Amino acid sequence: MALSDLVTDLLSGTNTRSPDTPTNQSTAETSSHVYECRNCGTTVTPETVVCPCCDHDEIVEYPVD
Ligand SMILES: [Zn+2]
Repeated sequence: MALSDLVTDLLSGTNTRSPDTPTNQSTAETSSHVYECRNCGTTVTPETVVCPCCDHDEIVEYPVD
């Protein structure tokens, strides 16, 4: 029943799109970790070395999945 349609599609190629083109793959590089002050728990940026909240200099890195 649908075989003729399938063959037609294969021959014409009008319904053919690029089969594997992942679209959302390049944005989660830096968001896989969270950085927090070990003293007060304030979330900081990866570049932060001293907590802006309590001046503690121990920043811990948590992996996030
Ligand atoms: Zn702190």
